[in-house]
Amino acid sequence: MKITDFMAYELIEQIKNKELKIIDIIQQTYENIEKVENSVHSFVSLSKEKAIEKAKNLDKQIENKKLKGKLFGLPIAIKDLICIKDSPTTCCSKILKDFKPPYNATIIERLLNNENAICVGRTNMDEFAMGSSTENSCYGPSYNPWDLVRVPGGSSGGSATSVSSGQVLFSIGTDTGGSIRCPASYCGVVGLKPTYGRVSRYGLISYANSLDVIGPITHCVKDTALLLEVIAGKDPLDSTSFDIKVDDYSQNLDQSIENKILGVPKEFFGDGIQPNVKNKINDTIKLSEKLGAEIKEITLPHLEYTIPTYYLIAMSEASSNLARFDGLRYGEMYDNPQNDVFEIFSKTRGEKFGEEVRRRIILGTYTLSAGYYDMFYIKALKIRTLIKQDFKNAFTQCDAIVCPTMPTTAFKIGELIDDPLQMYLMDTLTCPVNLAGLPALSIPCGFDNNNLPIGFQIIGNYFDEKMILNIGYLIEKKLDIYRKIPPLLKK
Ligand code: GLN
Repeated sequence: MKITDFMAYELIEQIKNKELKIIDIIQQTYENIEKVENSVHSFVSLSKEKAIEKAKNLDKQIENKKLKGKLFGLPIAIKDLICIKDSPTTCCSKILKDFKPPYNATIIERLLNNENAICVGRTNMDEFAMGSSTENSCYGPSYNPWDLVRVPGGSSGGSATSVSSGQVLFSIGTDTGGSIRCPASYCGVVGLKPTYGRVSRYGLISYANSLDVIGPITHCVKDTALLLEVIAGKDPLDSTSFDIKVDDYSQNLDQSIENKILGVPKEFFGDGIQPNVKNKINDTIKLSEKLGAEIKEITLPHLEYTIPTYYLIAMSEASSNLARFDGLRYGEMYDNPQNDVFEIFSKTRGEKFGEEVRRRIILGTYTLSAGYYDMFYIKALKIRTLIKQDFKNAFTQCDAIVCPTMPTTAFKIGELIDDPLQMYLMDTLTCPVNLAGLPALSIPCGFDNNNLPIGFQIIGNYFDEKMILNIGYLIEKKLDIYRKIPPLLKK
């Protein structure tokens, strides 16, 4: 039996019925990783011994009918910026090369300890989650399983390639300005950015904390729903988490969407969208209509300010969050340090941070400095409010908003890395959602002429993950392409 022929929720049934042992799943997972890892580079560290030991243990607990939790030993890959106790957590940065956190993030407690998933390894990402291609990782890029000369998207690139290439059935990423949805779209998998505050971020190493959210990447909507069920909910250790009822997201996904109104914002279909992408998105909108939804054109007039607003806020917050990595409080010092504290700070940070992270810290520090604060940072916050307001108005007219996830399909490695502005523009359709704090789902909806996946984005109202999962599930079922994986494992 090949585990890649199944979805996670199907494997769970087989484990429950004792048709399958957890240890066999874990062993097959590592075999698959061995086969394709050299091609895709999803992982920056693996935890094989621990995983095998846990699998054997859980199998015993199943025998004795004592296994607790919803995830039944299924293998999961975790982005390298979420703290796991005593295990390397590097943010794919040289400055945290040897960092092993002394505690678990809440999401790790929930996934691994309460629900008994098994972490098989840590996934590659842009350094400190800054990027849209995974090229900013200190370990080198990940490669798109659909075309190995292309980027997988970012910053959760390794989390997406680990699922897309068939190494694991689900993974965890983070989304500050699209970092779950962008790689999900480029790699042809499902990615969910939950509402801001839906999932605890205690133990997440922050990039921009008014935007950061943790969420799942999987092959199908039902597996994403299952993971959300487990990770969502109030956490006393994270004061930004909300105490709002967590639904049984994976149940009743097939409710009719008849008479639900889907808003199509005209600003999301402008000139920068590749014709291939536009066509597939329009086809998928027509399909939603066939499923009974009503389509309505809407407008989000401040959308054109998204990129400057997002990057001003994200860089300002990053400059403040990353101040602690100085070689003394956190992070590895440069070689042969002298006694001067300013030299220690500046040499450590100059040598150990990559180019993109340095650029953002410098720009963020500038925009927060006296005299520029009002001109840039405060102005960006004001525009953020206008963008939020646009969405609030839109949701008085519709139940969900549909549009492309990314303006293009995956670009080539090296194509945009020397042109940061061009790279930032790739985030035009994902960042508005983070600025507003809304939930959004990306599901694969087809392929372009080069056989590269295209992502369809469904944006929901605050805490209405249920609605977007429901819509995504019905579309996914009709399209029926979600079991398709790239041919790497077959070679
Ligand atoms: N590309 C965006 C950035 O570089 C998104 C990052 C993210 O969501 N972590 O900021």
